[in-house]
Amino acid sequence: MTMYRWRGLPVPHITPWSAETVTSAPLTVRHGRLAYEHEGPYDRHDGVLWVRVAYAQGAGRPRFAGIHAWRQRQAIMHDLCMICAEPAHVAGRFLFLLAARDGRPIQEGETTAVPPIHPACARLAVRHCPHLRDGWAAALVTGTPSWGVAGIRYAPGSLVPLPGPDPEHPDDLARVAYEDDAGLRWVLAAREIIELLDVEPVTDLDALAAARPLPH
Ligand SMILES: [Zn+2]
Repeated sequence: MTMYRWRGLPVPHITPWSAETVTSAPLTVRHGRLAYEHEGPYDRHDGVLWVRVAYAQGAGRPRFAGIHAWRQRQAIMHDLCMICAEPAHVAGRFLFLLAARDGRPIQEGETTAVPPIHPACARLAVRHCPHLRDGWAAALVTGTPSWGVAGIRYAPGSLVPLPGPDPEHPDDLARVAYEDDAGLRWVLAAREIIELLDVEPVTDLDALAAARPLPH
Protein backbone atom coordinates (compact mmCIF):
# COMPACT_ATOMS: atom_id res chain seq x y z
CA MET A 1 0.00 0.00 0.00
CA THR A 2 1.48 3.32 -1.01
CA MET A 3 0.91 6.34 1.15
CA TYR A 4 -0.68 9.08 -0.94
CA ARG A 5 1.04 12.44 -0.97
CA TRP A 6 -0.01 15.83 -2.19
CA ARG A 7 2.47 18.70 -2.53
CA GLY A 8 4.81 16.78 -0.23
CA LEU A 9 2.17 16.27 2.47
CA PRO A 10 1.13 12.76 3.48
CA VAL A 11 -2.58 12.29 2.78
CA PRO A 12 -4.42 9.94 5.18
CA HIS A 13 -6.08 6.90 3.61
CA ILE A 14 -9.49 8.04 4.90
CA THR A 15 -9.17 11.56 3.45
CA PRO A 16 -11.49 12.14 0.49
CA TRP A 17 -10.18 13.64 -2.77
CA SER A 18 -11.99 16.27 -4.79
CA ALA A 19 -12.98 13.72 -7.45
CA GLU A 20 -14.69 11.60 -4.78
CA THR A 21 -18.04 13.34 -4.67
CA VAL A 22 -21.00 12.17 -2.64
CA THR A 23 -23.64 10.94 -5.05
CA SER A 24 -27.07 12.30 -4.28
CA ALA A 25 -29.37 9.42 -5.11
CA PRO A 26 -33.14 9.88 -4.66
CA LEU A 27 -34.45 8.49 -1.37
CA THR A 28 -37.79 6.90 -0.68
CA VAL A 29 -39.61 5.06 2.11
CA ARG A 30 -39.91 1.31 1.61
CA HIS A 31 -40.88 -1.45 4.06
CA GLY A 32 -41.08 1.08 6.88
CA ARG A 33 -37.57 2.39 6.51
CA LEU A 34 -35.44 4.83 4.57
CA ALA A 35 -34.33 3.43 1.20
CA TYR A 36 -32.89 4.43 -2.15
CA GLU A 37 -35.34 4.53 -5.02
CA HIS A 38 -32.95 2.30 -6.93
CA GLU A 39 -31.08 0.33 -4.31
CA GLY A 40 -28.08 -1.85 -5.06
CA PRO A 41 -26.44 -4.67 -3.10
CA TYR A 42 -23.77 -2.36 -1.64
CA ASP A 43 -26.08 0.33 -0.30
CA ARG A 44 -26.68 -1.37 3.06
CA HIS A 45 -24.41 -2.76 5.73
CA ASP A 46 -26.07 -4.74 8.52
CA GLY A 47 -29.38 -3.48 7.15
CA VAL A 48 -28.39 0.20 7.52
CA LEU A 49 -28.56 2.50 4.50
CA TRP A 50 -25.21 4.19 3.69
CA VAL A 51 -24.33 7.27 1.66
CA ARG A 52 -23.00 6.62 -1.82
CA VAL A 53 -19.54 8.04 -2.46
CA ALA A 54 -17.36 7.92 -5.54
CA TYR A 55 -14.05 6.07 -5.23
CA ALA A 56 -11.16 7.86 -6.95
CA GLN A 57 -8.40 7.96 -4.35
CA GLY A 58 -5.58 10.27 -5.43
CA ALA A 59 -7.64 12.09 -8.08
CA GLY A 60 -7.86 15.87 -7.81
CA ARG A 61 -6.83 17.42 -4.51
CA PRO A 62 -7.34 16.07 -0.99
CA ARG A 63 -10.09 17.55 1.18
CA PHE A 64 -8.32 17.26 4.50
CA ALA A 65 -11.35 18.35 6.53
CA GLY A 66 -13.48 15.50 5.19
CA ILE A 67 -13.68 11.75 5.69
CA HIS A 68 -14.32 9.23 2.91
CA ALA A 69 -17.25 7.18 4.23
CA TRP A 70 -16.34 3.93 2.46
CA ARG A 71 -12.65 3.97 3.43
CA GLN A 72 -13.51 5.02 6.99
CA ARG A 73 -15.81 2.02 7.30
CA GLN A 74 -13.24 -0.36 5.79
CA ALA A 75 -10.50 0.91 8.12
CA ILE A 76 -12.72 0.57 11.19
CA MET A 77 -14.09 -2.88 10.27
CA HIS A 78 -10.69 -4.34 9.33
CA ASP A 79 -8.52 -2.54 11.91
CA LEU A 80 -6.50 -0.71 9.26
CA CYS A 81 -4.31 2.31 9.95
CA MET A 82 -6.19 5.49 9.02
CA ILE A 83 -3.05 6.93 7.42
CA CYS A 84 -1.42 4.09 5.45
CA ALA A 85 -4.19 1.42 5.37
CA GLU A 86 -1.91 -1.37 6.60
CA PRO A 87 -3.09 -3.58 9.52
CA ALA A 88 -2.74 -1.43 12.63
CA HIS A 89 -1.97 -4.02 15.33
CA VAL A 90 0.57 -2.98 17.95
CA ALA A 91 1.38 -6.24 19.77
CA GLY A 92 -2.26 -7.29 19.89
CA ARG A 93 -3.57 -3.82 20.69
CA PHE A 94 -4.45 -0.72 18.69
CA LEU A 95 -3.27 2.83 19.01
CA PHE A 96 -5.90 5.56 18.74
CA LEU A 97 -5.12 9.23 18.28
CA LEU A 98 -7.96 11.71 18.76
CA ALA A 99 -8.17 15.49 18.72
CA ALA A 100 -8.45 16.80 22.29
CA ARG A 101 -8.53 20.56 22.50
CA ASP A 102 -8.87 20.51 26.28
CA GLY A 103 -6.20 17.85 26.76
CA ARG A 104 -8.79 15.40 28.01
CA PRO A 105 -7.47 11.82 27.83
CA ILE A 106 -9.35 9.13 25.92
CA GLN A 107 -11.97 7.67 28.24
CA GLU A 108 -12.79 4.02 28.92
CA GLY A 109 -15.81 3.16 26.76
CA GLU A 110 -15.47 6.28 24.62
CA THR A 111 -17.05 5.97 21.16
CA THR A 112 -15.29 7.22 18.04
CA ALA A 113 -15.39 7.23 14.24
CA VAL A 114 -11.59 7.53 14.06
CA PRO A 115 -9.83 4.32 12.90
CA PRO A 116 -6.64 3.08 14.60
CA ILE A 117 -3.20 4.34 13.62
CA HIS A 118 0.40 3.08 13.66
CA PRO A 119 2.75 4.76 16.15
CA ALA A 120 4.97 6.02 13.31
CA CYS A 121 1.93 7.24 11.35
CA ALA A 122 0.65 8.94 14.52
CA ARG A 123 3.87 10.96 14.70
CA LEU A 124 3.31 12.06 11.10
CA ALA A 125 -0.29 12.99 11.90
CA VAL A 126 0.65 15.05 14.95
CA ARG A 127 3.17 16.94 12.84
CA HIS A 128 0.90 17.61 9.84
CA CYS A 129 -2.80 17.36 10.76
CA PRO A 130 -4.35 20.78 11.44
CA HIS A 131 -7.13 19.32 13.60
CA LEU A 132 -4.54 17.90 16.02
CA ARG A 133 -2.65 21.16 16.36
CA ASP A 134 -4.76 22.35 19.30
CA GLY A 135 -4.16 19.17 21.24
CA TRP A 136 -4.49 15.43 20.98
CA ALA A 137 -4.91 12.37 23.14
CA ALA A 138 -3.60 8.89 22.40
CA ALA A 139 -4.25 5.49 23.92
CA LEU A 140 -3.53 1.82 23.37
CA VAL A 141 -6.80 -0.08 23.25
CA THR A 142 -7.53 -3.81 23.40
CA GLY A 143 -11.20 -3.98 22.41
CA THR A 144 -12.92 -2.09 19.60
CA PRO A 145 -16.47 -3.51 19.37
CA SER A 146 -18.97 -2.01 16.93
CA TRP A 147 -21.20 0.59 18.59
CA GLY A 148 -23.29 2.08 15.79
CA VAL A 149 -23.21 4.58 12.95
CA ALA A 150 -23.15 8.33 12.50
CA GLY A 151 -25.16 9.94 9.76
CA ILE A 152 -28.14 12.07 8.86
CA ARG A 153 -31.34 11.17 10.69
CA TYR A 154 -34.72 11.48 9.03
CA ALA A 155 -38.06 12.00 10.72
CA PRO A 156 -39.59 8.49 10.92
CA GLY A 157 -41.90 7.74 8.01
CA SER A 158 -40.71 10.75 6.02
CA LEU A 159 -37.92 12.10 3.85
CA VAL A 160 -37.44 15.11 6.12
CA PRO A 161 -33.88 15.30 7.45
CA LEU A 162 -33.63 16.17 11.13
CA PRO A 163 -31.19 18.79 12.43
CA GLY A 164 -27.88 17.51 13.78
CA PRO A 165 -27.22 17.05 17.49
CA ASP A 166 -25.44 20.39 17.95
CA PRO A 167 -27.05 23.62 16.63
CA GLU A 168 -23.64 25.33 16.65
CA HIS A 169 -22.19 22.67 14.34
CA PRO A 170 -24.97 21.92 11.84
CA ASP A 171 -22.72 19.63 9.81
CA ASP A 172 -22.17 17.27 12.75
CA LEU A 173 -23.61 13.84 12.21
CA ALA A 174 -26.09 12.21 14.56
CA ARG A 175 -25.05 8.96 16.22
CA VAL A 176 -27.32 5.92 16.29
CA ALA A 177 -26.43 2.80 18.29
CA TYR A 178 -26.81 -0.67 16.76
CA GLU A 179 -29.20 -1.52 19.61
CA ASP A 180 -31.53 1.28 18.47
CA ASP A 181 -33.48 -0.68 15.85
CA ALA A 182 -36.01 2.09 15.31
CA GLY A 183 -33.31 4.73 14.89
CA LEU A 184 -31.36 2.63 12.40
CA ARG A 185 -34.36 2.54 10.05
CA TRP A 186 -34.27 6.31 9.55
CA VAL A 187 -30.61 7.16 9.25
CA LEU A 188 -28.40 7.62 6.20
CA ALA A 189 -25.09 6.42 7.62
CA ALA A 190 -21.74 8.00 6.76
CA ARG A 191 -19.47 6.70 9.56
CA GLU A 192 -18.98 3.48 11.43
CA ILE A 193 -18.68 4.07 15.20
CA ILE A 194 -16.77 1.80 17.58
CA GLU A 195 -16.32 1.70 21.33
CA LEU A 196 -12.83 1.79 22.90
CA LEU A 197 -12.26 -0.73 25.70
CA ASP A 198 -9.28 -1.46 27.99
CA VAL A 199 -7.89 2.00 27.34
CA GLU A 200 -4.31 2.75 28.37
CA PRO A 201 -3.34 6.40 27.77
CA VAL A 202 -0.16 7.07 25.76
CA THR A 203 1.65 10.39 26.10
CA ASP A 204 4.97 9.65 24.39
CA LEU A 205 4.35 8.75 20.74
CA ASP A 206 8.06 9.07 19.93
CA ALA A 207 8.96 6.33 22.41
CA LEU A 208 6.15 4.09 21.13
CA ALA A 209 7.19 4.65 17.50
CA ALA A 210 10.84 3.99 18.32
CA ALA A 211 9.89 0.67 19.90
CA ARG A 212 7.72 -0.29 16.91
CA PRO A 213 8.92 1.08 13.60
CA LEU A 214 6.55 1.45 10.66
CA PRO A 215 5.85 -2.05 9.29
CA HIS A 216 6.62 -1.17 5.66
ZN1 LIG B 1 0.09 3.48 9.23
